[in-house]
Amino acid sequence: MEFSPPQFVTNLKCLLCGSSYPHGNIFTCPRCGIEGILDVRYDYDRIISNLKSEIRNRPLDHWRYRELLPISPDIPVPHLHIGWTPVYDVPRLARHVGLRKLFLKDDGRNPTNSFKDRASSIGVLKAMEFGFNTIACASTGNAASSLAGLSAAVGLKSYIFVPERAPEPKITKLLIFGATVFRVKGTYEQAFDLSKQSCDQFRWYNRNSGTNPFLVEGKKTAGLEIAEQMKEHLPDWIVVSVGDGCTIGGIGKGLEEMRRLGFINRVPRLLGVQAEGAKPIFDAFRSGKDLIPSDTNTIADSIAVGTPRNWRRAIQQVRLSHGEMIAVSDEEILEAMRLTAQLGGVFGEPAGVAGVAGLKKAVEENIVKTNETAVVVITDNGLKDIQSAKQAAGKEHLIEPNLDTVANVLEKQLKL
Ligand SMILES: [Zn+2]
Repeated sequence: MEFSPPQFVTNLKCLLCGSSYPHGNIFTCPRCGIEGILDVRYDYDRIISNLKSEIRNRPLDHWRYRELLPISPDIPVPHLHIGWTPVYDVPRLARHVGLRKLFLKDDGRNPTNSFKDRASSIGVLKAMEFGFNTIACASTGNAASSLAGLSAAVGLKSYIFVPERAPEPKITKLLIFGATVFRVKGTYEQAFDLSKQSCDQFRWYNRNSGTNPFLVEGKKTAGLEIAEQMKEHLPDWIVVSVGDGCTIGGIGKGLEEMRRLGFINRVPRLLGVQAEGAKPIFDAFRSGKDLIPSDTNTIADSIAVGTPRNWRRAIQQVRLSHGEMIAVSDEEILEAMRLTAQLGGVFGEPAGVAGVAGLKKAVEENIVKTNETAVVVITDNGLKDIQSAKQAAGKEHLIEPNLDTVANVLEKQLKL
C-alpha cells in the first residue's frame, strides 16, 4: 500500500551546513555525514489556520498535534495512549528543592512507561510510510522496550540488538512484545554498528534516535503539551535530563513552535541536567567549544551517553531559551529518586529524576531563583531499574509474626 507524504513538512535542513533536502527516507546530511543532523521544517502559516480551529475538539493525546508531526495523513495511528501525560503540582517537593512552585510532568505514564514512546510511535509510522515491515534498533533500555511495544501495537516486526551484558529483565520485556533479540557478544558500540549494518543489508527501518530525523519530532510533543497544559501558568524553567540531546532539543523545538503559532507568548528557560559521570554536553556548553566524547560512569544508564549525536541541537535550544546546564552526582540522583517518590508521589528511574536533582543544585547555585517556578519532566518509571531503586530506598524489616517485633521496630525508628 502506498501512503501519501506528510502534508505540512516543507523540507529537511542540516543543522551543521544548512543544506536543504526534500522529505524522504534519509538520515544524516549526505554532505556532512554522521555530524549532519537533519531538522524537519514545516509550513507554519498553513498549520496555524488548521490547528487553531480544530485542536479544541481533538482527543487528549500527542496526535492532537498531527500537523506538527512528520506523519502521513493516511496511516492509522497506534491505538495505545501516547502523550498528554499529567502535570502535578508538588508543594512538598517544591519546599525541599527550595522553590516557590514545582510541577512534575510524569512521562512514566506512557504505554511502555517511557518518554521514548513519543519517538517510537513516530518511528513505526515512518517505517510503514516508507514501505518497511520491519524496524530495528540497538539499545539496552527504554528505547528498545518502547520500540518493541509500539511495533507490537501496529503489527511491525522488530529486531533489537543488545550487548551481551544487558540485564535479563530488560531482555524479557523485549521478548514478551514479540521482538527478535540479538544478544551480541561484544560492547554496546559493536551492537550498534551491527544493527546499522543489518538495517542496510536486510532492508529494515532504523530507529536509532541519534541520527533518525523524525524521532525527535515525536519527543517535541512534550514541549507542545507543556505549552498547552500550562498556558496560564507557564513556568519560568523546564528541566530535562540530557543524554543524547534529542529530548531537550525536541522539547525546546516544541515550545518555540507553540510561541510561533501564538499559543504562548514566551518560551520558558531550559535547564539541561547531565550526570557527572557522563557530561560531555555540559562540558561543551560551559566551554563554548566542540564536544569531546567522554567515558561514562553513572547509575543513570539512560543518559549515560559518551558520544551524544544531538549535542549541537541540545546546546542550540538551551541557548535560544537563555537556559543553563548543570551536572549532578549519583548520590544526588539517588536522593532525588527517594524524595521525588516520597514528597511528590512519582517513582522515576535515575535518569528520570536527574532533573529534580539538577533543579535543587541550580537553586543552591542561584541559577534558578527561589521565587521562580519550574516543571521537571520525569522521563521514565522507576520500576525499570529496581537495582538503583533499592539503593535509594533502604531496607525492609524481616520480623517474627508477633506484635512485640513490630513495637521493637517502631521504637528504633523513634530513636533515629
Ligand atoms: Zn550538512
